[in-house]
Amino acid sequence: MTGRLVLRGQEGYEEARVGRVFNARRPDRYPAAVLEVADEDDVVAGVRLAIERGWGISVRSGGHSWAAWSVRDDVLLIDLGALRSIAYDEATGVVAAGPATTGALELAPFLAERGRAFPVGHCATVGIGGFLLQGGQGWNGRARGWACEGVVAVDVVTADGELVRADASQNTDLYWAARGAGPGFPGIVTRFHLQSYPQPAVMWQDTWTFRLDDAEAVIHWLHDALPRLDRRVEPVMAATRLPDVPLDEGVPHPGGTVLLLHTTCMADSDEEALALLSALGECPVLGRELGHVTGPTSLAQESVAQAGQNPEGHRYAVDCTWTDAPADVLAPLLLDIWRGLDTEHSFSIWYGWAPTRVLPDMAFSVEGQVYVATYLIYTDPADDELYRMRVHERTAAIARQGGVGVYLGDTDFTRRQDRFLAPENLARLEAVRAARDPSGRIASYLTADRAGLNRHG
Ligand SMILES: Cc1cc2nc3c(=O)[nH]c(=O)nc-3n(C[C@H](O)[C@H](O)[C@H](O)COP(=O)(O)OP(=O)(O)OC[C@H]3O[C@@H](n4cnc5c(N)ncnc54)[C@H](O)[C@@H]3O)c2cc1C
Repeated sequence: MTGRLVLRGQEGYEEARVGRVFNARRPDRYPAAVLEVADEDDVVAGVRLAIERGWGISVRSGGHSWAAWSVRDDVLLIDLGALRSIAYDEATGVVAAGPATTGALELAPFLAERGRAFPVGHCATVGIGGFLLQGGQGWNGRARGWACEGVVAVDVVTADGELVRADASQNTDLYWAARGAGPGFPGIVTRFHLQSYPQPAVMWQDTWTFRLDDAEAVIHWLHDALPRLDRRVEPVMAATRLPDVPLDEGVPHPGGTVLLLHTTCMADSDEEALALLSALGECPVLGRELGHVTGPTSLAQESVAQAGQNPEGHRYAVDCTWTDAPADVLAPLLLDIWRGLDTEHSFSIWYGWAPTRVLPDMAFSVEGQVYVATYLIYTDPADDELYRMRVHERTAAIARQGGVGVYLGDTDFTRRQDRFLAPENLARLEAVRAARDPSGRIASYLTADRAGLNRHG
């Protein structure tokens, strides 16, 4: 092996165990060893070593799983952090990227230089490994679909240590699973082959700041307007306490939590973007806004704003739900969460996704009209229980009223489980797992209740 193997108890173990985990709330789980691979061959060697020693295997690409899925007891943690090469094929527009490549920081600029794009995640530092395996909710996602729909092939080291290519014509079971299984994928992806698309000429943003007292009216209007909005228009309402929000001249920040309606749009020209965004000018509470800005933006600019909302070195308690609940049911529940935000960085979003589509044949299979996710962000370990309990209880209250399931990316099944795959897709995935990894070597979903996996309601 050319990478570094650090056994439990050896110097450097703690840094290797959790140093690349984004959430500063680090788990009390201890791998037997961590292998920081240097290349693909190391991954094969790592799997063979785990087989020899009788260890299970966990995997890390970008380290952004909120619940630190990569950190498991008594396994070999295979850390793919060095696998970040990117190569582009002009003839097909397919880009091959290592699993620890970051989306908006590395992949998007690489593609932009070639006039191409891919729906990378909203947070610039998320690794494409975990992101794509679980679906991938990225910029322009309402128009382009789930990022994993752009995966045309994956290179996979299987649970018995063989490197294979999986695509629409070979190892099709792995190809199907690689698009949605998330941490339940029975293999280690060493390279993703992604279909890029022509980069839209412009990206625009349109942001309104409202008092929370106006939120109910905005929610009602957006629920009604959403299914008719062009798919290139991506509206997100975010309740935030950050002071740096758009305010019209002379308008003071009211203090506490405000509501942002932040909409992005990728289009072929400025005129087209303006026309697409003009639908937002029909919001019934216009005139009551605290501030409004609109104009051209870029992924780089949007990423800076995201990073401000998701600071490093903080503790996070996170949960989400898809909901088809009507506005009059959802609004009071959302306001309950939004009014309860009490730390500087905590925020909660309503992300308009409707109208839903018939999804391609892939493991990913649960989405709803609206995505609600809440991120409670704090620094004191003594607050862990308070914020974890709060985020899961309040998200559960929404899920009970029209919730249709969750998106794996913002879950923590050690505290709250819900459906993330269609039942028939989970059954099919279990069959793939049984065939590909009969001894269950590769750590699957991290859950407090394995029997309750994917249970809804
Ligand atoms: C600040 C922040 C912002 C986020 N924003 C978004 C967003 O905009 N859109 C979105 O969809 N999600 C978002 N997420 C969620 C994020 O996409 C998921 O947590 C994802 O799993 C992170 O991928 P990763 O490779 O960085 O994480 P890791 O923790 O490295 O991986 C998570 C798990 O996925 C599996 N896995 C990862 N790579 C591989 C591989 N190569 N082979 C096999 N299994 C693998 C393993 O089980 C691993 O433990 C965000 C998370 C954070 C922390």
